[in-house]
Amino acid sequence: MKTIIEPFKIKSVEPIYFNTKEERRSILEKAFYNPFLIHANDVLIDLLTDSGTSAMSSNQWAGIMKGDESYAGSPSFFRFEETVQKITGLPLVIPTHQGRAAERILFSTLGGKGKYFVSNTLFDTTRANIEVSGAEGIDLLCEEGKYPTVPAPFKGNMDIDALKNFIADKGAANIPLCIITVTNNSGGGQPVSMQNIKEVKMICVENNIPLFIDACRFAENSYFIKLREEGYANKSVPEIAKELFSYADGCTMSAKKDAFANIGGFLAMRDEQLAQECRNLLIITEGFPTYGGLAGRDLEAIAIGLNEVMEENYLQYRIRSIEYLTNKLIAAGIPVMQPAGGHAVYIDAKEFLSHVPVEQYPGQALVGALYIEGGIRSVEIGSLMFGKYDVNKKLIPAQMELVRLAIPRRVYTQSHIDYVAEVMIEVFNNRHEIKGLQIIEEAPMLRHFTVKLRPIL
Ligand SMILES: *Cc1c(COP(=O)(O)O)cnc(C)c1O
Repeated sequence: MKTIIEPFKIKSVEPIYFNTKEERRSILEKAFYNPFLIHANDVLIDLLTDSGTSAMSSNQWAGIMKGDESYAGSPSFFRFEETVQKITGLPLVIPTHQGRAAERILFSTLGGKGKYFVSNTLFDTTRANIEVSGAEGIDLLCEEGKYPTVPAPFKGNMDIDALKNFIADKGAANIPLCIITVTNNSGGGQPVSMQNIKEVKMICVENNIPLFIDACRFAENSYFIKLREEGYANKSVPEIAKELFSYADGCTMSAKKDAFANIGGFLAMRDEQLAQECRNLLIITEGFPTYGGLAGRDLEAIAIGLNEVMEENYLQYRIRSIEYLTNKLIAAGIPVMQPAGGHAVYIDAKEFLSHVPVEQYPGQALVGALYIEGGIRSVEIGSLMFGKYDVNKKLIPAQMELVRLAIPRRVYTQSHIDYVAEVMIEVFNNRHEIKGLQIIEEAPMLRHFTVKLRPIL
């Protein structure tokens, strides 16, 4: 088979500002070993997130010029609405400025004390919006999803028996919604099978619980179904996506992911009364229902991006580039999550830096080493992000110590990815020199964004 090439050519470029290892050492020290405090111009390859970092196409930029900025009834809104309706089959479409705004509106409408929202795995903003309403978020991930280095085709699936037991235990009346996240972001970008979605839907119908899809990576998930699930090899991605949404009563979406937009999101559903309640909140916090916190030009860019993201040449290149990096790291003996997910490569930092105890944040130490060695920005997903303290201020560690390399869409070429692998291998070969970190300042919530650290010498 021939090399899978990037399915685009480049019309406009942005410079990468090179710096030296010595300069990066001092930049990292001044940023208190926190990648969120580094200026983006000091980063060579930015793998902090795939959110809002996509390269837009020439068609999307043309759409930006066509955007109509009328306050009410903009033709850009109607193009956006029609596109979402066509892809999802969901009739009622509410634009928001990003995914978490859709979540806030949905969960402040349906949430509240004593309620439970069940999911394969809730993304952190989803969980936060549920908890702010007073309700509880429950993750019921399938067993195979819990072992990072053991491959399985659909590690994002929901545990069907756990779902049945949970409903029997708490009562369907206390569960306003079931949410399936595709792909499962927090679980490593692992896909959910159509079979699993169908089974969850059947249980939801039996218990009169609506099913919503957190659809941020619906195209990547649909492509995995095409590749891995029996009966889907000859279906097109739009057909698979349509079937996936056909089991849903609604969805939330961040257009910063699988819509190639730099900002935006939406809420879509079938229930007219729920939509009306959501629109009432939308007007207070986001804007009038035909723009909802977005400019007309954003609505155009999203509508165009939603169709582009389902092109199979793109998805083949997208999924293959994550797998390509994963395979290079596996070949070098580096512990990575398997199989490759849809949008990121996850390194097992606990194993990579087995000499650094969990209390010294091995994930964050690895993030720092990657930056110094090659100017690569990544993010820790471990005890710095999710750790809590017990009553004696002793760290209760997270389940895993991971470092995520999220790959922005259509931004980097194969040589950039080769460089990332080379840097990672260099760091791996010198891993015994990497020291742990200690916290010198932290916020009470979401501390990883602002935390200050120093190396333990
Ligand atoms: C990014 C993301 C969100 C939140 O979307 P924002 O646009 O960042 O507010 C929700 N769910 C999942 C799975 C995501 O990846």
